[in-house]
Amino acid sequence: MKITQVAVIGLGRFGTTVATTLYQMGHDVLAIDINPDKVQELAGQVTYAVAADATDESSLKELGIEKFEYAVVAIGSNTEASIMVSVLLKSLNIGVVIARAVSKLQGDTLERIEVDKVVYPESERGRALAHDLFLPGIQQYMELTSTYGISKIKVPARFISQTLKNSNFNNLRDRYGVALIAIQRGEDIILNPDENQTLTSNDTLIIAGPDEKISDIVGPTNINPGE
Ligand code: ADP
Repeated sequence: MKITQVAVIGLGRFGTTVATTLYQMGHDVLAIDINPDKVQELAGQVTYAVAADATDESSLKELGIEKFEYAVVAIGSNTEASIMVSVLLKSLNIGVVIARAVSKLQGDTLERIEVDKVVYPESERGRALAHDLFLPGIQQYMELTSTYGISKIKVPARFISQTLKNSNFNNLRDRYGVALIAIQRGEDIILNPDENQTLTSNDTLIIAGPDEKISDIVGPTNINPGE
């Protein structure tokens, strides 16, 4: 894997998770927060953790930020700081600037100053959770658009011991209007499975398609109130 240098600015819950995860993945992570306590908490969990005001250009330059390929602006609640820092990083020609938005106005403003990607972790997670909980039978959901996503579903009982062909999964796009991307069988992933694969009760299906088509496949939920 290519090791990337990433600066993460703003070490609230979101920034801390991004920074420590990237570091655990083997990347070089410079974590910056204006609050020295936040920086202290992260010592040893990232490559460098530094207390600095990221709206201050000279502080950023002193940290050698211009050499970074990626920067994540994880400041959420302080909109003004999030926008100022993002503008500054773009003007310093950081390759890719990813900024977190907590409101539509903040997101629209970040888009206008041409950050490379705006993420809305709260609303994305909220929507994924709504799908996880209320699209029946779905174990995990990744939204692609508001009505289309990739779902992980436990193999429906009617397909167990059937080949994909017999269960009409071979030509999934035609029969069900979705695409079967992979079967997860224990620790194995069978990508783009062959029509002769027989489904077992331990299988999980990874399917891309419109929400209502996926609901048709999984059938009614077995999660009931009070369980
Ligand atoms: P979360 O919702 O993920 O907990 P917050 O938006 O509340 O995140 O936290 C943002 C973090 O960004 C805070 O730790 C705050 O100290 C930091 N921060 C705010 N302004 C600046 C700045 N100018 N420079 C560096 N860090 C900042």
